[in-house]
Amino acid sequence: VREHVYEPFTEQSVLVYLENKGLITDIEQVTCKEVGDGNLNYVFIVKDLQTDKSLVVKQALPYAKVVGESWPLSLDRARIERQALQEAAKYVPALVPEVFHYDDDYAVTVMEDLSDHVILRKGLLEGNLYPHISAHIGTYLAENLFNASDEALGPIEKKKLARQFVNPDLCDITEKLVFTDPYQNAESNSYPENLQETVKSLWEDDRLIFEVAKLKKQFLTEGETLLHGDLHTGSVFVTEKSTKVIDPEFAFYGPAGFDIGAFIANLTLNYIAQQERADENKRTEISEYLLETIEQTWAVFEKRYRELLLEKGFEERQRTNQYADYVLEKIWQDTLGFAGCKTIRRIIGLAHVEDIDGIEDEAGRLQAQQRAIETGRSLVFNRTVWRSPKSLTAYLKGLA
Ligand code: ADP
Ligand code: MG
Ligand code: MG
Ligand code: MG
Repeated sequence: VREHVYEPFTEQSVLVYLENKGLITDIEQVTCKEVGDGNLNYVFIVKDLQTDKSLVVKQALPYAKVVGESWPLSLDRARIERQALQEAAKYVPALVPEVFHYDDDYAVTVMEDLSDHVILRKGLLEGNLYPHISAHIGTYLAENLFNASDEALGPIEKKKLARQFVNPDLCDITEKLVFTDPYQNAESNSYPENLQETVKSLWEDDRLIFEVAKLKKQFLTEGETLLHGDLHTGSVFVTEKSTKVIDPEFAFYGPAGFDIGAFIANLTLNYIAQQERADENKRTEISEYLLETIEQTWAVFEKRYRELLLEKGFEERQRTNQYADYVLEKIWQDTLGFAGCKTIRRIIGLAHVEDIDGIEDEAGRLQAQQRAIETGRSLVFNRTVWRSPKSLTAYLKGLA
């Protein structure tokens, strides 16, 4: 980014920019609307009234609005997000928005308009079931996490790629908000008064603090592969048939289980929330669907990752089933541990999820918050004990 060139766009100035770049032909014939939540980035949807064609312009802002203050954030994350989308497009083009144009000086990515999709979190909260999610996300995870690994790329290419994804500002956010602040009396935390006792006992749990410190160190030091870095259900766009993963601005080289854990944590939070939210006559169906989706996401991931590893991991002599077992067991344990941290932080930390916060009944909401914290703790503690997703889903069934 050349700082003197960069300026945040408005609904008007973005059109002038697009016209200059030849991406639209006539400013008078298009509409433009900013639809982002405006905390970190602008998202403009631009529609051509004559051809009905549309595009999305995402622009990074140089700060994040958090706890009433401004947290300065590198604009370089727009490049990182765009390059992560382009990397994913090499392996799973159907599962990411197409990038049409980018401009690092303006921290801008112009991409496919996915307005015919809905955000998965929102769709799930409306009670919709998406039958292909586990196949799509399992595949997305296997292809991306394998193809950027040392086993796939070899030492030179891997390091060349990893160099493109040094993302200190955004990793710092995760380190603080996921692994640090929720475990102490930090200013950024946010939880209701009636949860204070539960939170206090968590802060006094030395065993948990130690396990989370180990996971934090893993997050900071294990550059296994290129991660999405923020793979919650708000980063997944869906229709009945299609799945698109968006918003990889937190992308960096980290432990593979972090992405899988993020997704599983968000399904887990939705499951816990649905016990309070879903109509009684639909609750069983939704619950079974969510548990099945957790199990199948891992199953699809594991099968495809193993295939890729046995086909092209390291040297022929080394790509054995025994080695695949070793790699996948490590990823599975990390998945559970990171899922635990991600679950706890959504209750105690700065950023919450609508699934839980939107539970109208106060007693129901408290119950869900307590269950989420307890589930997070169990995930962290049992990460070497629970050998397959069945252990997690059995635990979740036991909650209700
Ligand atoms: P942020 O990093 O600020 O969270 P996101 O990339 O998640 O930004 O986008 C924020 C919102 O903007 C999304 O939840 C979605 O509603 C909308 N959006 C983002 N990308 C697209 C797209 N390609 N097509 C349509 N809407 C989009
Ligand atoms: Mg947002
Ligand atoms: Mg984002
Ligand atoms: Mg987002």
